[in-house]
Amino acid sequence: MEGDQRMSQQGITDRLFTIRYKCDETSHLKIKNERLCMDCSTKSCTFICPSDVYEWNDEQKRPTISFENCLECGTCRIACPSENIDWTYMRGGYGIAYRYG
Ligand code: SF4
Ligand code: SF4
Repeated sequence: MEGDQRMSQQGITDRLFTIRYKCDETSHLKIKNERLCMDCSTKSCTFICPSDVYEWNDEQKRPTISFENCLECGTCRIACPSENIDWTYMRGGYGIAYRYG
């Protein structure tokens, strides 16, 4: 069992090693209409993202966006029930790169 866990952790480490970031200074993710977020019952963006990019800010009544951590998978755009996320790839030369092999 311990051996399995060690192998699994090693697998994750190997996969993370295949990811390389070059982060832009401006966000490629924007909320289109923050008022919709106030009334959003699911707040899907705050739990669907594999990289924890969105976090609900109770004071500001909207999600904060740590766009630097984005893996550009596109899930948040589909998961938002109001189609309220303006989603683009990072500008050319920025963003995530996956190394294969
Ligand atoms: S899921 Fe969409 S509407 Fe709801 S809080 Fe997130 S961005 Fe706003
Ligand atoms: S594109 Fe994927 S990784 Fe980036 S913020 Fe959306 S769900 Fe998270």
